[in-house]
Amino acid sequence: YYTNDSIIYHNGAFLHPETASANLYSQTLHYGNGVFEGIRSYKTKFGAKIFKAAGHYERLKYGAQVMGIPCNYTVEELVNITYQLLEKNNLEDAYIRPILTTGANMSLLTSDESILTIQCWEWGKYMGDKLLRVKTSRFERPNPKSCFVEAKITGHYTNSILSTNEAKSAGYDEALLLDMNGNVAECSGANVFMEKDGKLYTPKRGHIMPGITRTTIIEICKEEGFSVEEKDFTLAELKQADSAFFTGTAAEVVGLQSLDDYKFPLSWEASLGYKLMQLYKQEVLCERNSKLSEAI
Ligand code: PMP
Repeated sequence: YYTNDSIIYHNGAFLHPETASANLYSQTLHYGNGVFEGIRSYKTKFGAKIFKAAGHYERLKYGAQVMGIPCNYTVEELVNITYQLLEKNNLEDAYIRPILTTGANMSLLTSDESILTIQCWEWGKYMGDKLLRVKTSRFERPNPKSCFVEAKITGHYTNSILSTNEAKSAGYDEALLLDMNGNVAECSGANVFMEKDGKLYTPKRGHIMPGITRTTIIEICKEEGFSVEEKDFTLAELKQADSAFFTGTAAEVVGLQSLDDYKFPLSWEASLGYKLMQLYKQEVLCERNSKLSEAI
């Protein structure tokens, strides 16, 4: 993730990752009380463009707020620092990872100190380009009655790690997780859409991470006149779909080949997901004439 020339932003300064230090008494390390983001910038005809930077930093600030973690930066300052960081690393196509870690505090009350670190590196499409073979996980997504599921909190990701390990060790590419009610929720690090009879469906908010890519896809569908509905559905309904795909900043748009022993019958190239994969790429590269929001 870094080379001898890499620069990170850490606690108010730009420096080489190996000269930065982390506190071994941090609540983030011991209890998973930290908040982070996953953002991408793209090399466009206008130079490096961070896709929906404000939306991502709004989500970071929301997570900090619900966990009581101080975040003494405005969204504008965060965006500004990130562009400076890209420039210092000579990067245009990059994955950007901001993280707010909490200070030394072994109690279970949020520390009143936090440190912002932002790292960036070149990263290809996270789940690759080939169609995914997905396994339904035995783990459920975190329950909205136990935590703030819409916040990107470090500790929540043990659930994503468990389900990914489970899927990979059974020979699959990725995991699909259900919610506490048995409805389809999402992948370990991406949202899910299904296509049935020319219409798209994605689980509504409540039990999922509200992906910025998910909102982008919904907005592109509305602009392009594709039918899309936010609606809960069961695993049985997903296993009758014509096609399905995952969306996320790191994964972008990636098609599913199969789910457990169900093979999606529509060819990927003939699906709405395939068209949306191309439209999404055009959008992030500033090649579409569109008016999308920064909404989460
Ligand atoms: N679900 C989960 C669990 C995730 O970790 C992510 C990645 N942040 C997503 C969905 C997709 O979110 P986004 O489109 O904002 O990257």
